[in-house]
Amino acid sequence: RIFLGIESSCDDTAAALVRDDRAILASVVAGQTALHADFGGVVPEIAARAHAEKLDICVEQALAQAGLRLDQLDGIAVTAGPGLIGGVLSGVMLAKGLAAGSGLPLVGVNHLAGHALTPRLSDDIAYPYLMLLVSGGHCQFLRVEGPQSFTRLGGTIDDAPGEAFDKVAKLLGLPQPGGPAVEAAALQGDPRRFAFPRPLLDRPGCDMSFSGLKTAVLRQRDALVAEQGGLHRQDRDDICAGFQAAVAEVLSEKTRRALELSPAPVLAVAGGVASNRRLRAALHYVAAKARAGFVAPPLQLCTDNAAMIAWAGIETYDAGQRDGMDLAAHPRWPLDRDATPMLGTGK
Ligand code: ATP
Ligand code: FE
Repeated sequence: RIFLGIESSCDDTAAALVRDDRAILASVVAGQTALHADFGGVVPEIAARAHAEKLDICVEQALAQAGLRLDQLDGIAVTAGPGLIGGVLSGVMLAKGLAAGSGLPLVGVNHLAGHALTPRLSDDIAYPYLMLLVSGGHCQFLRVEGPQSFTRLGGTIDDAPGEAFDKVAKLLGLPQPGGPAVEAAALQGDPRRFAFPRPLLDRPGCDMSFSGLKTAVLRQRDALVAEQGGLHRQDRDDICAGFQAAVAEVLSEKTRRALELSPAPVLAVAGGVASNRRLRAALHYVAAKARAGFVAPPLQLCTDNAAMIAWAGIETYDAGQRDGMDLAAHPRWPLDRDATPMLGTGK
């Protein structure tokens, strides 16, 4: 079986074709970084318009890449939330149009389920596994028992690490998205020069906090600027290295506890921040110590893409899910077991 996946929940417009034997036949991702560059963040109206303009082009490109026509496919999967409502709506409307025109089955996919099931697309792993989903808007430990069965063990009580990486980049004059820029700068930096806090490490359980870390970076930057009149390149790199080390340490210690709390044969990571090499190395070590396998999908499957949506579509379709022309777009949609889509705004 081959599914078309459509993703438009944030600032990436994407389409992909995936087969049930894990082959990614095509994957097209059109980013919007340049469109939002002048605004210091994603502007929802601009994102929605760009998705509406580019979605059908991405789908055509994906089909052309794979040399397939729509009538040769077996289903259409689309992100139905959570995310920016304008973008999600663009994707859902296009998917409905394609499904109605072709007669193919339609499956609405939770974007977070897309991230959380990615390790089964990249690697041949069985359920259950422990997932650390760490992205631009989310940070949570999930016990994944099936394509629609997620139990949340804990997560951030404030910001997501991706958000913190982006804010730190902004504070230091580095480009967006901040994660890759901070990671590159950290390579030249000394992680021990600045002692950044490790929030909530002293508290039991797997909840985390990252907003204090961001504030600590702001204070350190301001102190250096007041002292020296500016920031040297080395200062910037040292701050990045110290910040990244703090995030990696908090995430690995909490992962160690999550594995203790809910032992699983495999630890898997997903989400944009899971593409950070320093973090991947730290988590690999934690998994090895707990005698668990470790799966970290390739970088382009960690950040937003449509292959993960197509794959989650195949898995949920196989589990019996079918959606109709009444499929709705959900700005909020938690993954936990039995949770039903909630209406509202924001993430
Ligand atoms: P969500 O999935 O929670 O709705 P999102 O879709 O915007 O959010 P992703 O595309 O999964 O998030 O991830 C984007 C985030 O990942 C950005 O915050 C980005 O800075 C971060 N990121 C990307 N690469 C790296 C990296 N190498 N190191 C750290 N963070 C990174
Ligand atoms: Fe995402």
